[in-house]
Amino acid sequence: MKIGFIGLGIMGKPMAKNLLKAGKSVVVYDVASEPVEEVVRAGAEAAASPKDVAGGTDVIITMLPNSPHVREVLCGKDGLLEGLSAGKIVVDMSSIAPIASREMCGLVREKGCEMLDAPVSGGQEKAEKGTLAIMVGGSEPVYQKVREILDLLGKSTYVGESGAGQVTKLVNQTIVAVNIAAVAEGMAFAKKAGVDPERVFHAIRGGLAGSQCMEDKAPRMLEERYNPGFRITLHVKDLNNVLETSRNLHISMPMTSQVMEMMQNLMARGCEGMDHGALGKFYELLNDVSLKK
Ligand code: NAD
Repeated sequence: MKIGFIGLGIMGKPMAKNLLKAGKSVVVYDVASEPVEEVVRAGAEAAASPKDVAGGTDVIITMLPNSPHVREVLCGKDGLLEGLSAGKIVVDMSSIAPIASREMCGLVREKGCEMLDAPVSGGQEKAEKGTLAIMVGGSEPVYQKVREILDLLGKSTYVGESGAGQVTKLVNQTIVAVNIAAVAEGMAFAKKAGVDPERVFHAIRGGLAGSQCMEDKAPRMLEERYNPGFRITLHVKDLNNVLETSRNLHISMPMTSQVMEMMQNLMARGCEGMDHGALGKFYELLNDVSLKK
């Protein structure tokens, strides 16, 4: 089974390399030439366009920033739709809006093909190790056909029909955002109330308040270490997709909206390229306090 891979950024490049390491035959495309050259040196074949990728492969994975990029790759000039023939499978692993994902799945099905949404959680390190959490939406029998490929990238879980993978990813992004904000709020409270936030962290990390978010982000806040990691711009993109979806469905999401405002404030201060743990910085500025130990 020949695999196409489009989008060789922070996440896509190591994922494509893992497929090559597992002995798969991979055809790649990206608008940027440098990552293409690097993955070709690792054994991939380069294609001239998404259409070209679709023509020469059976399963096409996309790993792009957001809905407009996936739409461009699928529906644009020399896009995937121009190259797809019946029976091929598109697996979009980007994090995009569920409504856009469902719409694009419909366009792919009109070609006699299938499309799964399979966004991931885990970041660059897990992409490199092949240990991503993959949330899959679409036809379950189609998922079973490509499961062997997804297993090379991480642990996949089938969650429902088209768009369900993207909804699951947005749930993940909401919980992570609110959790990081809660950690920052607690650490700032401790400092202002005269207790060393680092001691507080060590005292509570093993209890109910402990979380993977706290384990990763509290030390970052205490060291003011905000290099990414997961950039604020990407999290704002995801929360935008959450809020757009929730508004369409008339769902009230007060906590997500609050954290979105905090992230917007950090963006306005030029922090968009920092790790989302920089919510600690928001609380520092809000309360005129330093979390640094
Ligand atoms: P990135 O910006 O590093 O990479 C995106 C790649 O897509 C780039 O190489 C870019 O050149 C390419 N691209 C953009 N438009 C294109 C087009 N029209 N045709 C071909 N290539 C095009 O992004 P990333 O960090 O790899 O993230 C990819 C997706 O994974 C995003 O949806 C992101 O939210 C999600 N994600 C990222 C992380 C993370 O830690 N970075 C973690 C989980 C999920």
